[in-house]
Amino acid sequence: MESKNKKLYIETLGCQMNKSDSERIKGIMSHFGYIDADENDADFLIVNTCSIRKLSEDKAYSKLGNWGARKKAGEDIKIGICGCVAQQEKENLLKKFPYIDLVFGTHNIYELPELLKQEGRICAITNTPVSEKKFEIIRTKGINAWLPVTEGCNNFCTYCVVPYTRGRERSRSLDNIIKEAKEILSKGYKEITLLGQNVDSYGKDLKNGPDFGDVLYELDKLEGDFRIRFTTSYPTDITDKVINTVKNGKKICECFHIPMQSGNDRILKMMNRRYNVEEYSKIVKKVQNEIENVTVTSDFIAGFPSETEEEFQDTIKMIKELSLDYANTAAYSPRPNTPAGKMTDKFIPDDIKKRRLFELNEAIKEATFNSNKKYEGKILEVLIEKENFKDNKRILEGRLRNNKVVHFESNRYNIGDFAAVKLNRASTWCLFGEEI
Ligand code: SF4
Repeated sequence: MESKNKKLYIETLGCQMNKSDSERIKGIMSHFGYIDADENDADFLIVNTCSIRKLSEDKAYSKLGNWGARKKAGEDIKIGICGCVAQQEKENLLKKFPYIDLVFGTHNIYELPELLKQEGRICAITNTPVSEKKFEIIRTKGINAWLPVTEGCNNFCTYCVVPYTRGRERSRSLDNIIKEAKEILSKGYKEITLLGQNVDSYGKDLKNGPDFGDVLYELDKLEGDFRIRFTTSYPTDITDKVINTVKNGKKICECFHIPMQSGNDRILKMMNRRYNVEEYSKIVKKVQNEIENVTVTSDFIAGFPSETEEEFQDTIKMIKELSLDYANTAAYSPRPNTPAGKMTDKFIPDDIKKRRLFELNEAIKEATFNSNKKYEGKILEVLIEKENFKDNKRILEGRLRNNKVVHFESNRYNIGDFAAVKLNRASTWCLFGEEI
């Protein structure tokens, strides 16, 4: 598939790992002369898919449908699909969508240069990763850069496709991580977010190698004014060493994303989560007690197969009891080939799932507002990400170290600056302040 067309568009769905993969794909494609383009202007269109929920999978198919219609109408475009849906559906996608030119899996990104030289319609899916090669990464402009430290997962939660689509957990070498972090900083980024399906288990696959606490410690030592974030943490993999490194680090942000998924022990067991409510609560409280101004955010699923009303109410109770700062929520969505997806006789009707999701969201809204309220009156550092103009005023938007969004008026600061801001008023989703 030798390219004469040179404009690339990638539609990225799903998690930050996909966003990071898309940046790597853009970097690889730039070696073939491709430049970033708008969707309507591009001649190579790729959808980087997510299969965590059916909705996201449907979104990818609808994109393909639109692009297919353009091709059918005579546009000279190439269409590719990658990511978790590609890894899962493989050649079926070529059969189902006759206008797709290229299907490549989550392990095949670094194979793109070879794939692009081949003729005809191609499906490249392997279950073992093609090893990382050096390519420039074309990162999304802004102040934050994604930096994957692990990929894959060994946990096999019964509702999740990640261990099947991303494979077993693999840690990158600490040297590679540090090298990439230095490159990121040399380009002027002010924030590095370390990514992994489970960042805290970093290093378990490296013999006598470093652990996640070491990664944080080493990155914290790098020169410059910048912040380090990390996501996602599996509750029982968070060590005291990680907590202490965050507490004592200068650049590591005080923010943990620790998915709980359910506040009921029976449901946690059915999900194959390897902790109970008591163990989860203990780790959250330890983080909250040890680290000043820390936020703990979470994920919850409403209507997991067989979840009773009482069990669902346990989740609502835990959100309040744990003083969580925010959580992502979703109604349970059955995924192909997962153990929970086969519990069809235990599925919860859609209307009940919808109502529980609504209740969950209301509880999260209340928790988020209460959390924001705690910051009223404090003076904290904001890293500025955006500017907006309203009623002849320049309003800056940024984040506290603990990831809370802050808006304040200023003509003094620019995007990428750190500013001391007095936080005057909390709303549900952000804080309003003034520069000092
Ligand atoms: S920890 Fe569970 S939910 Fe998270 S990626 Fe692994 S299997 Fe999926």
